[in-house]
Amino acid sequence: MANTVDINDALFCEHYKEVCEPCGYDGREDNDAFYGFDPTNRDPIEPPNVSQNKDGIYQCKKHGSATCNLCFGWKKQITRLRVAAKKAGK
Ligand SMILES: [Zn+2]
Ligand SMILES: [Zn+2]
Repeated sequence: MANTVDINDALFCEHYKEVCEPCGYDGREDNDAFYGFDPTNRDPIEPPNVSQNKDGIYQCKKHGSATCNLCFGWKKQITRLRVAAKKAGK
């Protein structure tokens, strides 16, 4: 079982990957479900550089925010990747 990290409500493995071979981890289904999407074979979302604050919460390095809409706009990213996957016929 992979260790997961929660970055602004999206789940990643400890390497900050949504799909990770070494971990045998694929968080796409969980993350899609969280935002009310059906699972699809889309490309994984990728977090920007993150660091943990003193409370152990992940925040973006660029803006120092744990709920940064620019860096952690998961719903927008997932929507875009789902459209791309559909276009590619996945
Ligand atoms: Zn991993
Ligand atoms: Zn940011």
